[in-house]
Amino acid sequence: MTGTQPSTPPTRPRPSPDEQSATYWQGLRNGRVLIQACTACGRRRFPPTPGCPYCADPGIRWEEASGIGTVYSFITVHRAFDPAFADDVPYDIATIDLDGGGRMVGRVTGATEIGGHVTPAFVDQGDWTELRFTTGDKP
Ligand SMILES: [Zn+2]
Repeated sequence: MTGTQPSTPPTRPRPSPDEQSATYWQGLRNGRVLIQACTACGRRRFPPTPGCPYCADPGIRWEEASGIGTVYSFITVHRAFDPAFADDVPYDIATIDLDGGGRMVGRVTGATEIGGHVTPAFVDQGDWTELRFTTGDKP
């Protein structure tokens, strides 16, 4: 049968920065990991939100994180949720405890293990930059 195969690859989803997340995305574009911190209790949070999930204070301060951290937990994606990522599987998504405080979620390249050390990698996706974490090991 002909005509059943798509002629173009599926389009990958891209971020839609809003009032809360625009600073984060612009930071990545400049090779910086910017994370929100609460002006009342000081705790860092991710993803960006209009209020503190710990104490409900609306105060926001942006802090630069090194992006270096430790794998708290991770999953390995074996079946892509979106056809655009079908060629990438398997890959790891981890929760990272950042040095200096805060916890982020992101894709990890390299051999992922709980307690493993990761560093940031800024992946140019054309008109936006993706933050990944790398273990420095081969996958
Ligand atoms: Zn707070």
